Amino acid sequence: MIMAAGKSVAILGGGFTGLRLAYLLNQSGYNVTVIEKDNSLGGMCRTFEYQSNGDSYLFDYGPHLYFIKYAEEFRGLLGDDLIELTSRFCMYTHGKRLSYPLRPLELVREIGPFRAALYIADFLYHRLRPRGKNSEHASLESVMTRRFGKKLFDVFYAPYIEKCCGLPANEITSMWARERENVSGRSLMDNVRNKIRFLLHKTSREHMAKWNSPVAKDITAFYPRLGAGQICSIMSKALAPEQQLLNARITHVNCSDGKVSGIAVTTDEGPTVVVADLYVSTIPLPELFSLLNPAMPHLSEVAARLTYRMVRLVCLIVDREWAMDCLQIFSMDRKHAFKRVYEPKSMSDVMAPRGKTSLCLEVCCNDGDETSSMNAEQLAARCISDLIDMEVLGSESEVTDSFVVDIPHAYPVYHKGVEDDCLDLLEGVSSVRNLVSCGRQGLFRYHVMTAEAMDMAGSVSQFIENDIEKVHAADRESEWGQLFF
Ligand SMILES: Cc1cc2nc3c(=O)[nH]c(=O)nc-3n(C[C@H](O)[C@H](O)[C@H](O)COP(=O)(O)OP(=O)(O)OC[C@H]3O[C@@H](n4cnc5c(N)ncnc54)[C@H](O)[C@@H]3O)c2cc1C
Repeated sequence: MIMAAGKSVAILGGGFTGLRLAYLLNQSGYNVTVIEKDNSLGGMCRTFEYQSNGDSYLFDYGPHLYFIKYAEEFRGLLGDDLIELTSRFCMYTHGKRLSYPLRPLELVREIGPFRAALYIADFLYHRLRPRGKNSEHASLESVMTRRFGKKLFDVFYAPYIEKCCGLPANEITSMWARERENVSGRSLMDNVRNKIRFLLHKTSREHMAKWNSPVAKDITAFYPRLGAGQICSIMSKALAPEQQLLNARITHVNCSDGKVSGIAVTTDEGPTVVVADLYVSTIPLPELFSLLNPAMPHLSEVAARLTYRMVRLVCLIVDREWAMDCLQIFSMDRKHAFKRVYEPKSMSDVMAPRGKTSLCLEVCCNDGDETSSMNAEQLAARCISDLIDMEVLGSESEVTDSFVVDIPHAYPVYHKGVEDDCLDLLEGVSSVRNLVSCGRQGLFRYHVMTAEAMDMAGSVSQFIENDIEKVHAADRESEWGQLFF
């Protein structure tokens, strides 16, 4: 608290990470200013309302579930508005709907013992084959093939990941595999071992269910009654209006003598400069580099290599009470334009009025792709026909309205070598003494979900409160990007 007296922190970007950090620092008495380009805080974690034929629907920018790690903090903010859900994820592949992650007995039942035996033989072949020399940048395909076998990987994992990244699995970095361990498990052997423990011990079973082990039958998740963004609305209200610079366009991050000296910003009121003791950036890492003044020319090529994949969120209003019997369905079918569909009402029943429901589909694309140039009607028609193919919808006439929301920086593209590029940029950030970059966008991470954003905001706030030195990214190779842990 004494440290906080008179200390000011400017936070670039008011998404979940920036907002959480602002909320924590504000509580500790810091003088916080959030600079946000949109007209409200919360970033990708906001909820918006849509009116259709006189009814009101709520939508998130993608299905934002919260998990157990910070459930008590979320309950502190939301009270009884925090809903606990027990449900499951599914995947669609080869004309069948299976649980996701895979359940061995269901697999054998659905695909038959002959094909299941082929998958196991293929797994053993890849597992027991002598390992080649570890290449410096192993691909997702090589790592996952060793963990699950080539056939299992090709059918049950690769199509979804390739749709996310827009690259073939042999061009995607193996880092993705590390970041998805909580969903897919560490390997087939590990999953089998855990499944046995799960079946044999009541305590293990309860622990695994609570912490969403890949072998647990259902997942446990939490969700705010009024949509994921309810948490962001509550945290925003704790900040005074003058602490939120909204509709703000950052023109330069001015630096001198190895420090940021001020952020040049244009708002509705005109140009201004925000000056603080410490600056925390949560905006996309490559964008931060494009704003530095003077620039770091030796890093401009590296920054240009870090690109994002856009999500076109296709939202459908459906004339039915319910459309799905699970939380989300991942499409492993390459002919489907979308990678995942979910039903907001399955998380909170206020998301759609009685007698109606809504569906959201994520279509990932790059500029110039066929789906990027479709207009909203064409894209919705394409998604509806995919849903009929999956038997989620019976006919087109069930959809009474639709719209599309574009999310430009949705997924970082994890090309091979991305770890080194990020390290180089974060080394650049390290060289500016009063600047930190964090969050999903600020670290160019895919898997910085809300729990990890909570971790990070907590760590940065501790770092600021304890006034400790920044650790150079290069010294932290095992946890690249996490400058302050
Ligand atoms: C489709 C989808 C589904 C997801 N589902 C889940 C889920 O189920 N569970 C989960 O935990 N997480 C989920 N996530 C991830 C979650 O959205 C992020 O982890 C979280 O929002 C990260 O917040 P952030 O602040 O790091 O980034 P963001 O939310 O992107 O915030 C960055 C902020 O910076 C602002 N900004 C950018 N550039 C500038 C600039 N130049 N000047 C000023 N402001 C700027 C942006 O407007 C934004 O407000 C999902 C993400 C997507 C895309």
